Amino acid sequence: LWNFLKEKFKESLSKVSYDTWIESANPIRITENNIIIEVPSSLHKEYWENNLATRIVENIYEYSSREISPLFVIKNEQENSNHNGRQQSQTLIQKNSFRKDIQLNDKYTFDTFVIGKGNQMAHAAALVVAEEPGTIYNPLFFYGGVGLGKTHLMHAIGHQMLLLDPDAKVKYVSSETFANDFINSIQNKTQEKFRNEYRSVDLLLVDDIQFFADKEGTQEEFFHTFNALYDDRKQIVLTSDRLPNEIPKLQERLISRFAWGLSVDITPPDLETRIAILRKKANAERLEIPDDTLSYIAGQIDSNIRELEGALVRVQAFAAIENRDITTSLAADALKSMLPSNKPNILSILDIQNVVSKYYQISLTDLKGKKRVKAIVLPRQIAMFLSRELTANSLPKIGAEFGGKDHTTVIHAYEKINRAITKDYQLKQDIEEIKNKLN
Ligand code: ADP
Ligand code: MG
Repeated sequence: LWNFLKEKFKESLSKVSYDTWIESANPIRITENNIIIEVPSSLHKEYWENNLATRIVENIYEYSSREISPLFVIKNEQENSNHNGRQQSQTLIQKNSFRKDIQLNDKYTFDTFVIGKGNQMAHAAALVVAEEPGTIYNPLFFYGGVGLGKTHLMHAIGHQMLLLDPDAKVKYVSSETFANDFINSIQNKTQEKFRNEYRSVDLLLVDDIQFFADKEGTQEEFFHTFNALYDDRKQIVLTSDRLPNEIPKLQERLISRFAWGLSVDITPPDLETRIAILRKKANAERLEIPDDTLSYIAGQIDSNIRELEGALVRVQAFAAIENRDITTSLAADALKSMLPSNKPNILSILDIQNVVSKYYQISLTDLKGKKRVKAIVLPRQIAMFLSRELTANSLPKIGAEFGGKDHTTVIHAYEKINRAITKDYQLKQDIEEIKNKLN
């Protein structure tokens, strides 16, 4: 049935659409009235529900004269809420490319990790630990903001160690899972089993230990787990969003033990690294994206890598919906709708004019005026560019706010700057600075 449905979609959709929506979906189960289809994200789910669901019903009817309607589930949510129905969860886990036993994501390897200024130390330490576990940096502690690759590196260590020694016992848990396992073991009187499980591993990866804050009993238990592993020269790797001594209510003795090894921070990636990451992801997804578009996206999203990936998914989805090739202007359109939700405080054109005129030390009157000297024209165009990019005002409205200029002048300014920033690094930096000031 699924192949039949796929063929039907192949006939009626463009190739990009087909690759984006259909290839990424998987049928999970069929019941009397429903077919359960797994899709990768909420964006996919929405698209299926709005655009493809009725066709499924029609096509299934054509195939089997039965009335079956589709239900969509999002991949990871499905996996989490899947404690009932073991068989189902097992096939799901395989599909999700998790190693069932150790919960490592297949995508988080050293191969897929892009090295840049913000993470090279962490990357180097991770490699050392994977190759010489338990001897040099124990524990290894990564700290840094969300979405910067801590979890990725941690999984990479696990994969690498298994590659070198397939019999190694690797265990990855979030700090919450550790806490839950511990509490369950008390309730079910299976503490013995809990301890055996955690203390017999060669590599223990505990993610996001800032959530140990306030959990007295769990900290106590973790202290003993730590000691047992450490004494056995087993490798421990921990992550947190901050340094151990900045975690509220983390016991002194844990803090001091964590300091026995190496702590490395991961900082946000610079522009080059962001571009490299996007390029790698685009290649992995077999997406054809011009270089200037990759730089554009990397320039828009400068905080964290998870958002960077989100932007790429969005651009891809947008291209599929609109049946267009991926270009810089398409990316701009796709990401524009992301901006308002990112920036709850609404910027006005005047805010932008004020900041830009101050930044270039010219008067507001000149900025809005008609003088054609370069020292004024460029800031004016930048201000127009930013007004277009960061506010929801129409082009004529922006023109009006700049001393009554025509909307084609605004478009011209926007396109000129948009092109210039892909080549002129200094200009790009300046604009980033102005954006920071606007925040
Ligand atoms: P954290 O645990 O620090 O919040 P993650 O490890 O979950 O961040 O990373 C968020 C996303 O960004 C993941 O999909 C990860 O694969 C990706 N990512 C992070 N750093 C890199 C990198 N250096 N190269 C490639 N992908 C990365
Ligand atoms: Mg993480």
